[in-house]
Amino acid sequence: MPQFEHHYFDQLPGFYTELNPTPLKGSRLFYHSQPLAQELGLDAALFAEDHREYWCGERFFPGMKPLAQVYSGHQFGVWAGQLGDGRGILLGEQKLSDGRYVDWHLKGAGLTPYSRMGDGRAVLRSVIREFLASEALHHLSIPTTRALTISTSDEPVFREQPERGAMLIRVAESHVRFGHFEHFYYRKQPEQVQQLADYVIAHHWPELVNLTATPAERYTLWFKDVVERTARLIAQWQCVGFAHGVMNTDNMSILGLTIDFGPYGFLDDYQPGHICNHSDHQGRYSFDNQPAAAYWNLHRLAQALSGLMSTEQLESALNAYEPALMATYGQTMRNKLGFFTQSKQDNDILTGLLSMMENEGRDYTRTFRLLSDVEQQQQNTALRDDFIDRDAFDRWYQDYRQRLQQENVDDATRQQAMKKANPRIILRNYLAQQAIEKAEQDDVSALAQLHQALCNPFSDAAEYDAMAALPPDWGKHLEISCSS
Ligand code: AMP
Ligand code: MG
Repeated sequence: MPQFEHHYFDQLPGFYTELNPTPLKGSRLFYHSQPLAQELGLDAALFAEDHREYWCGERFFPGMKPLAQVYSGHQFGVWAGQLGDGRGILLGEQKLSDGRYVDWHLKGAGLTPYSRMGDGRAVLRSVIREFLASEALHHLSIPTTRALTISTSDEPVFREQPERGAMLIRVAESHVRFGHFEHFYYRKQPEQVQQLADYVIAHHWPELVNLTATPAERYTLWFKDVVERTARLIAQWQCVGFAHGVMNTDNMSILGLTIDFGPYGFLDDYQPGHICNHSDHQGRYSFDNQPAAAYWNLHRLAQALSGLMSTEQLESALNAYEPALMATYGQTMRNKLGFFTQSKQDNDILTGLLSMMENEGRDYTRTFRLLSDVEQQQQNTALRDDFIDRDAFDRWYQDYRQRLQQENVDDATRQQAMKKANPRIILRNYLAQQAIEKAEQDDVSALAQLHQALCNPFSDAAEYDAMAALPPDWGKHLEISCSS
């Protein structure tokens, strides 16, 4: 049996409402992540039928104390006031064998005091989308909440039409968001802001606790690390072509994890202005605006923390954003291009490639994967056939090969390294859609196959060929419903 503790419950009274989940009728475990179960030390027998109730919010493991967290946030640039866990319940913190703790959070668990106009539920479609995206990002080494189980029931949940109700157990080192701090700041409760900062530092930045420093210096070091983690996360999203879609401050993790998957999307064709959220009419959270959106969110967090540090200290921490973003972006893009050293031309080569891709609407993932096969002496490449403007490609390709020749790295070594930097399999919308349609007919096979492929994004194995193919035309223009 996994062992649970409840530090959040014990140490932060006033930051939540104690509450049990409201089970769905006739619910059952539908699917679970075996790799994550293994990491968490969970016995396979726990996922058998006789343990069904644990995954459906009907029974608790020893030490769990269910609660709904309160937080607030800025949504689409506007202060939205109190939000909170409107359909999620924090079950407890599992103690792992290496001493670490992870939150278990049940999403779709029924009404809470923070449900506002919502029904407290989640539908199978959106739960599968969150499950797949968090597993996909994790296996691309991008910080994210994880997904352990999907349970479903026959109880309908109404969105545009009746759908199947479902629940997800999400696992993360913490579920604290920027919006938790904003909540107490805007309620003029500075002691609670400090209490939460101290809690978060004690649990997640223990190295800062015993530092000889003034409290303000300690908070500054902590906030600077939050800024840098956020910057690195966003840089990684940009490099892999991930658009979150709803970067409100209540969806920003204090640990720099990807959290709350709604109408997200991985780019198919390279369109930097891509908007995956159909209710985002201004394009506030368009793909290429994500770095600016995160920076704006960090300023809202800075304001919430303004009682803990001086303005100069807050600014010095915020100033770490751009260098951290550019360092991660630059390094990751050099890895994708197969450059082992830095050179002045690198940026021109990158922007040259991106603008060709943009002009011709080339597939982001496939282009970089094909680039991984290039040989320095080879005039022709399979990639050339992908572009219509061959002259533009040839000019770019000549510069690129010259740049590779400066490296003194043989083709095989470089190709191998590039294939670890350029995934072959990403979670395309149409793949998720196919898995969802089968799942809604009670067939988990497509979900399991896709999940397996997403756990091996860099693999050349033939068994994943179908998942690595370009999307069909219908798959590029899917309208993903925002009502999750
Ligand atoms: P999101 O944009 O999905 O991150 O959600 C914003 C806020 O709405 C959060 O406080 C959620 O808990 C809440 N929320 C979203 N969907 C529902 C729902 N179906 N029922 C209750 N609350 C919800
Ligand atoms: Mg949210």
